[in-house]
Amino acid sequence: MSSELLNILSDGEGLLEEEEEHILFKEIFKKEEYVKQIEEAKEGGRNSIEVDYEDIKTINPEIAEVLLIKNGWKELSNYALDVIHPKNEIKHIKYSNIPFIDLKDLKRSGNQGKLVRTEGIVKMAGQIKPDPRMFTYACTCSEGTVVKVDMQKGGKPNPDDLCSCGKLFKHYDLVNEDYEQTQWLKIQEKPEGTSASTQPKDIKVLLEGDLVDSTVVGDVIELTGVLSASVNLKNRNKNFFYLKGNNVKVEDKGYEDINYTEEEVEQFIELSKNPELQERIEKTIAPRIVGLEEEKKAIALQLFGGVPEYEGTWIRGDIHVLVMGDPAIGKSSVFKYVSKNLAPKCVYASGKGASGVGLTAAVLKAGEFGDDGEWIFEAGAMVLADNGLCVIDELDKMTPEDRKHIGDGLEDQEIYLNKAGVNATLRSRCSVLAGGNPEGDRVDRRKEDIISQLKLDPHLISRFDFIYVREDQPGVNRDTAVGGAILKKKVRDNRKEEGIPPELLKKYIAYARDHVNPVINDEANNILLDWYVKVRNPEGNDEEEISSLSARFLQALKRATQARARMHLREEATVEDAYKTIEIMKESLESSGRDSISGRIDVRLAEGRKPKRQDKIDKIVEEVIVEFNEEYYNPAKPYEWFNNPNIRDAGIIKVLEKGKKLGLSGLTLSNAEEELKKGITLRLTNGIP
Ligand SMILES: [Zn+2]
Repeated sequence: MSSELLNILSDGEGLLEEEEEHILFKEIFKKEEYVKQIEEAKEGGRNSIEVDYEDIKTINPEIAEVLLIKNGWKELSNYALDVIHPKNEIKHIKYSNIPFIDLKDLKRSGNQGKLVRTEGIVKMAGQIKPDPRMFTYACTCSEGTVVKVDMQKGGKPNPDDLCSCGKLFKHYDLVNEDYEQTQWLKIQEKPEGTSASTQPKDIKVLLEGDLVDSTVVGDVIELTGVLSASVNLKNRNKNFFYLKGNNVKVEDKGYEDINYTEEEVEQFIELSKNPELQERIEKTIAPRIVGLEEEKKAIALQLFGGVPEYEGTWIRGDIHVLVMGDPAIGKSSVFKYVSKNLAPKCVYASGKGASGVGLTAAVLKAGEFGDDGEWIFEAGAMVLADNGLCVIDELDKMTPEDRKHIGDGLEDQEIYLNKAGVNATLRSRCSVLAGGNPEGDRVDRRKEDIISQLKLDPHLISRFDFIYVREDQPGVNRDTAVGGAILKKKVRDNRKEEGIPPELLKKYIAYARDHVNPVINDEANNILLDWYVKVRNPEGNDEEEISSLSARFLQALKRATQARARMHLREEATVEDAYKTIEIMKESLESSGRDSISGRIDVRLAEGRKPKRQDKIDKIVEEVIVEFNEEYYNPAKPYEWFNNPNIRDAGIIKVLEKGKKLGLSGLTLSNAEEELKKGITLRLTNGIP
C-alpha cells in the first residue's frame, strides 16, 4: 500500500476500492480460534470478538501498519465486521498484541486518534451508566413511518427521513431505545514503575459495552484503546485526554516487571548459600542510617514475607512492622530507602494529609468524570500495594477513626465498599511498614508501659508482628556528636563493602517471593511453640489462660520463620530459622513489651492490651481500699480519707509494700498513688461505697 493511500486512510476517508482488507479478514476468520470465537459470541450474546494484531501482521504487514495510524483501526474494524455473517450480533472488534506504549508516554503528541496498548493500576472507577445510542420513533399516522435517531449525534432526526404526512417530529411515538453501558476509570502507573518521590502519571479511560464492569479498583490491567480528547468549548480547563477502551485484560500481580537472566539466577543461588546472608541483607538496608539495627532485621524479614495459609480462613503471610519514635532517629530515611531501592513493589504514603479511607479505599461523590453527583470508587495506598509493601509514615498525624480503617485492612487484607447500591471487595494483600511519633514526640521508659504512651488504638497495634519503640534520649546525640560522626563514617564505609548491591537484592527478593514457599518442619515448629508458651505465661502457672489466648502472636512467629527460610531460598524452615526469628522477636519485645513495673516482658503489652500484672495491682488496690474504708469511711463524705495527706500516704505505702511482696519491683510511689486514685474513681463511678 502506498504512503499516499495510508494518508487518505488516516484522515478517515476510507477511499480504498480494493478488497485487500476483506481478503485479509476472510483469511484470518478461517482460523479455528476465530471460527470458535464468532460461534461463541453468537451463542453467548457477547457482541465482540478479539483479533490478534500478530495474525494480521503475519498475513499482511502493510495492512497491519494501517491499524496503528490515526483512525486506521476504525477502517479495519469496518472491514472485519463486513466479513462476519450474519454480523448483527457482533458490533465490536477488540485487538490484542498492539505495540505497547508506557503510560507515562501516552499523552505525547502524535498519539492522538491512534490505537495503543498500555498498562496501569485502576485507581478510580465510576458507576456503570446507560448511555443513549439509537432511538427509534414512528409517526402516529396510518403510514407509520419509522425514523432512527442517533443520540450520540445530537438526537435530532434527519429531515429526509421524516414522514410525508407532515406531522411534527415531537408528536411521533418512541418505539425503541437502544442504550450502551458505559463506565469511566482512571488508571495510573504501576507501583513497580514509580519511586517514592515522583507523582505517578495517570489517564482516564472510557469503557463501553461488554468492557464495562470487567475490572475493579486495585486491579492491574492491560488496556488497549484509542487516545481521545474530551473537549469542553466553554471551559478549556475541563479538557482532558482519555483512552477509549477497545480491550481490557486483568493481569496477575506477580513481579513480571522484574526480569532476571539465567546468570542472575545462578548469582541468586550462590548468594543464598552465603552463611552471612541475613547480616548482609540487613546491612544493605539504608546503610547511611546508623542505629535502628533491630528494626532493620524485622524489615529484612518483611521484605521476603511468610506464606499465606488456609486454616478455615486465610491467614496472611505478610509481615507488618511498626516503628515509633523520635523524628531524629532516621526512621523516615529508612522507610524511603526501602520503598525506593529494595521493595520489588511498593507504595509510599504519609499519614499527614491522607485520610484512613484515602489509605485503604473510598467511595466518594466527585466530579472526577464530569458529573458532580457521581459515586466514584477510589483505591488507596494499601489496595494499590496489593502483593507488595505499603509504607505509611506519620501514622500519628491521622485521626483515630482513620487509623481504624488501616487496622481492619491489616488483618483482613480486604476492604469492603458499600455505597449507593454498589458493593465491592478490594484486596489489600500487602505488608505494611508503618511509623510515627509518640504523642508529645517522646516516650519515657521509666513511666508505665511504653505502648500505652503511644496513644494508638490497641486494635491497630495488635495487627503488627514486630513493634519497635525508640525513646528520646536527651543529650546523648549532642554529647557524642563528634565522636559519633567519625564512628558513623567508618560504619557506613564498612557496610557499603559488606552489603549487597541494592538492585541485585531487589531482584533477589522478587525471585524468592515468586519461587519459594517454605514449610516449617516439626522440630522448628515445636521450638516456636515452646517459646510462645513461655513468653505468654512467664509464671508458668496459668494453664487455663493459655488455651484461651489468641494465637496471633504465634502466627507472627511462624510467618517470620518462613520469611527467614525464604530469604535463604529454602523450601523448609528449620530449627536455625526458628532460633534466629525468636532472637529478632525478643528484641522487638524488649523494645515494646517490657513492663517497667513487673520488670518482665509481657506480650500483652506489645499487643496493646492490659499487662498481666495489672490484675495483681487491681487486687491489691481493692484490698487496701476495703481495709481503709473499714477504719475511715464516712457515709456523708465517702473517700474523704484520700484527701487527708497522712492517711492517703499510708494507703499508698500499703499498696507499695503489698506490690513488692508480689514481685512488682518496679512499682513507684507515683504509680501506687495513681492506681489507688483509679481504684477509688472506679468504685465511685460504679456506685460501690
Ligand atoms: Zn405520518
